[in-house]
Amino acid sequence: MRILRSVKVMQKITTNLRKRGKSIGFVPTMGALHAGHFSLIRQSRKENNYTAVSIFLNPTQFGPNEDYRRYPRNLKADATLCKKTGVDFIFNPARNQIYPKGYKTEIKIDKLSDLLCGKFRPGHFAAVATVVNKLFNIVEPDTAYFGQKDAQQAIIIQRMVKDLYMRLKIKVMPTIREPDGLAMSSRNNYLSASERRDAVVLYNALETAKTMIRQGISNPSKIILTMRKIILKKKSARIQYINIVDLNELKTVEKIQEKVLIALAIWIGKTRLIDNAIITPARN
Ligand code: AMP
Repeated sequence: MRILRSVKVMQKITTNLRKRGKSIGFVPTMGALHAGHFSLIRQSRKENNYTAVSIFLNPTQFGPNEDYRRYPRNLKADATLCKKTGVDFIFNPARNQIYPKGYKTEIKIDKLSDLLCGKFRPGHFAAVATVVNKLFNIVEPDTAYFGQKDAQQAIIIQRMVKDLYMRLKIKVMPTIREPDGLAMSSRNNYLSASERRDAVVLYNALETAKTMIRQGISNPSKIILTMRKIILKKKSARIQYINIVDLNELKTVEKIQEKVLIALAIWIGKTRLIDNAIITPARN
């Protein structure tokens, strides 16, 4: 396994691999890797000749009062685990490799970026789309792997790839969870023992919503109210949003008749956690 820090060297390697007809799978990450990341990496290994993982804590996608400074950094441990899992390349550029002096270009994905998490994180998804676009141009993968854990991000990236005729496939893999249901996340590291116990409430609320929808309840307000009640039983929990939306436009649905995305962002103490579920209603 090689660790590359230079855009030029990374580009040279992947250009050569492509010339030799080798397929490249790519998993973009911000590091502090966990089983969720490794499920994407394993899928890439299965489907490609070579797998590249980027570890880049992208400063531009964090708001001024967000957790950029305290986000866990763990390159050594990440590299050991990547090597064990059979990763071929880690791309770990310095900030000025990705944002050299004078850079000016940004990718903006209209509408989708302003809903759900975007409402509370202005500029976040433009920054994500921009860095992912840069990384795609550097690694030139055949397929890039994303997690459903960040459903809005996956939908936005798929939209960008389609709109810009980008020549790669996007695969979205299921959310990997702890045994009690909490979605794996690098941010779970922030939780105290009691907050960690409370944090399972995101999953519990989603499971209840799933049951209600499968029982034929189609009124989103009723489901959201039940979810709110479940979540607010936990002292450390504060709701940022719970929303039930369609999968294309991410618009709030009035009645649940087709597949929907239930997305939520919840503060557990000082930690903001997100989770979601895609649910198909029962056919009558
Ligand atoms: P991050 O390092 O948080 O930017 O995540 C990198 C990639 O891993 C993104 O595509 C995430 O959606 C994905 N990911 C994060 N957590 C999970 C999880 N629990 N299960 C599956 N994929 C995940």
